[in-house]
Amino acid sequence: PLRDHAIPGTRTTVAPNYDPLPIEVVSGDGAWVRDRSGTRHLDLLAAYSALNFGHRHPRLVAAAHRQLDQLTLTSRAFSHDLLAQFCDRLAALTGLDLVLPMNTGAEAVETAIKAARRWGHVTGRVADGEATIVVCQGNFHGRTTTIVSFSDDDVARSGFGPFTPGFVAVPHGDAAALRDAIDDRTVAFLVEPVQGEAGVVPPPAGYLAEVRRTCDEAGILFMADEIQSGLGRTGATFACDHAGVRPDVMILGKALGGGIVPLSAVASRADVLDVLTAGRHGSTFGGNPLACAIGLEVIALLESGAPQEAARVLGARMRDRLLDLQGDALRTVRTAGLWAGLDIDPRRGSGRWLCEQLLDRRVLAKETHGSTIRLAPPLVIEPDDLDWGLDQLAAVLA
Ligand code: PLP
Repeated sequence: PLRDHAIPGTRTTVAPNYDPLPIEVVSGDGAWVRDRSGTRHLDLLAAYSALNFGHRHPRLVAAAHRQLDQLTLTSRAFSHDLLAQFCDRLAALTGLDLVLPMNTGAEAVETAIKAARRWGHVTGRVADGEATIVVCQGNFHGRTTTIVSFSDDDVARSGFGPFTPGFVAVPHGDAAALRDAIDDRTVAFLVEPVQGEAGVVPPPAGYLAEVRRTCDEAGILFMADEIQSGLGRTGATFACDHAGVRPDVMILGKALGGGIVPLSAVASRADVLDVLTAGRHGSTFGGNPLACAIGLEVIALLESGAPQEAARVLGARMRDRLLDLQGDALRTVRTAGLWAGLDIDPRRGSGRWLCEQLLDRRVLAKETHGSTIRLAPPLVIEPDDLDWGLDQLAAVLA
């Protein structure tokens, strides 16, 4: 029973859990990819920010090649020569004490949830099985059973119950609602500093500082999911940096693997990850030598400050242009560094329709839902290429 494939008229065994735009990419370089016919397309999605450093960044590819000739996997049954180095450097980058490497974003979120629950129990705050975590409405933290348990997206949840209990949702950006939701069973607040899948939604000014104060007063953990917002995207190393706050737990993924391998991590205060003693959590591939080699090079790129600076400069250029385009068709523009959420007038077309029009003009973008699309160009994009991509958007909107 073959199914329709991305390219109209073709059939395949690929399961239908995505509805990709009709293009098959065969190669990539910087901000550009080529399809089967050799036609170049400008990538303004960057794999949802996993390609912050572009396709096949020469330094990341070189680090991967070097490591492929050395050692690729030990499992965590044995250590290897890059593991401690990777964790030390990521701890320094985040300003936190301990690092636990995993693979995908969802796994890192699961790791943080497990750590927070056990931390609540070990510190005597809650009895085992009683912990609750406050989350935000409109969140996106991944696709596992526990994570969709606290999603409010019906498509993501429908038919997948029974769900994991222990989550309470409050509006994103509303610090008073967070304060009201905390009770003696609460162990943590889990938040995207800028909501990504919701359509690049930054919180009101002062929110994250207020969250920090509230979590301190209540003695609960502030856990920031920086999987999409972190590692340069917003013009700082982490989105929390703009607010001058440091969470107790930071969750990273996507660009950490340089767009080459899945690499995620949880970084935390010492007392939090300390509760995951041997045997309580793990992953065969988490922190493997190949991923660590690439992750170390990603950290080196970020230590230079260049990706963050590019996101600031190009982000201001993109924001100004998008604000010029705002009008009847483009209703709302939200930006954070080189990252934008655009709401178009649903009467003029869906986000999907807009992305298909952009594809016809050799620009890759993707709707987040309904009539909202997200732009997340690689931070290495050339300014002229960004302008050209935005020209195509302007033409479609016109
Ligand atoms: N958290 C956030 C904020 C995300 O944007 C995503 C993916 O889009 C995830 C978690 C899940 O990451 P992954 O798809 O690698 O499991």
